[in-house]
Amino acid sequence: MTDVLAIADHRRGELRDISFELVTAGRELAAETGGDLHVAVISGDTERFGEQLQLDGVDTVHTVEDGEEFNHDVYAQVVTQLFDAVEPQFLLMPNSVNGLDYAPAVANRLGLAYVSDVVDIGVDGSTLTATREMYGGKVETTTAVEADQVAVSIRGAEWPVTDDTGDADIEAFEADVDESAVRSTVTGFEEVGGGDVDISEADVLVSIGRGIEEEENLDLVRDLADALDATLSSSRPIVDAGWLPKNRQVGQSGKVVTPDVYIAIGISGAVQHVAGMKGSDTIVAINTDPNAPIYDIADYGIVDDLFDVVPALIEEFE
Ligand SMILES: Cc1cc2nc3c(=O)[nH]c(=O)nc-3n(C[C@H](O)[C@H](O)[C@H](O)COP(=O)(O)OP(=O)(O)OC[C@H]3O[C@@H](n4cnc5c(N)ncnc54)[C@H](O)[C@@H]3O)c2cc1C
Repeated sequence: MTDVLAIADHRRGELRDISFELVTAGRELAAETGGDLHVAVISGDTERFGEQLQLDGVDTVHTVEDGEEFNHDVYAQVVTQLFDAVEPQFLLMPNSVNGLDYAPAVANRLGLAYVSDVVDIGVDGSTLTATREMYGGKVETTTAVEADQVAVSIRGAEWPVTDDTGDADIEAFEADVDESAVRSTVTGFEEVGGGDVDISEADVLVSIGRGIEEEENLDLVRDLADALDATLSSSRPIVDAGWLPKNRQVGQSGKVVTPDVYIAIGISGAVQHVAGMKGSDTIVAINTDPNAPIYDIADYGIVDDLFDVVPALIEEFE
């Protein structure tokens, strides 16, 4: 029992970034335990997903054919059966919408110690140490989990994605799904907020905060987003005011984003906001306050009035 089993995540026909981040986290754990890294992908285009998961450090990819999309009852049964077959020391699951749905059920069925929303993990002897953020990200706590087998769900954008190809074996896993226990059916997919934009997939985000002052002023940042071919996102007050839909909110209670470039305009950089965007490759901040916390994590900063800076940027990029 030294192996690691990680469960990949997919939606609408694509593996999500968290799948590749799980491989990185799993690879680190397997290196410490000296065990193998098993990755499983359940439902969807398992043939294509299986090949995409043949990554450096992965020993075996288990593919489980069962429907197209995520289904709670199927995942809960299949992950439990995979766990019994692989007998890993650590079971890693995504702290995504799907993962949060089935991970506690699996841990409960298996009677496992379970730590959710983990941002760092390590092994100290035979003990797992799992780090979580608390009090809205203001402090970190590290928990030592003294159990032979542990389930963990990891937060997105905390580990780098693994994309080096490896030579993992791909094995079809025949799950024995009890159809009478499948009590939910996926009938369709609708993005919260009614929009068709997924800000977590964007390469460039122009993000606006309370510094914009009035709803009418949003057109200015829309123009900048157009000029940069970027996607518009925001801090929470903009969504709370009803100026943008919920699916545009970045942060702890919004979405975690990892664009190449994140332009934070009139955003102070509160911990709850930073929790959602600190994984961005390059962060640009525009803020009149040189002491705004956003400058602690920004790569580039313009300490100036957004109503002067944004029109100048639009002119430059158009
Ligand atoms: C449980 C909980 C969950 C939360 N979840 C989230 C979340 O998911 N996402 C999120 O964003 N927040 C979240 N929050 C709210 C968070 O604490 C902050 O209140 C919020 O992020 C602040 O948004 P802001 O930076 O736009 O506004 P402010 O903090 O008011 O900052 C506005 C900034 O604009 C600057 N500014 C003003 N005028 C100009 C100008 N003309 N030009 C340039 N700069 C200017 C100011 O200097 C200031 O720094 C959460 C809070 C709680 C308690």
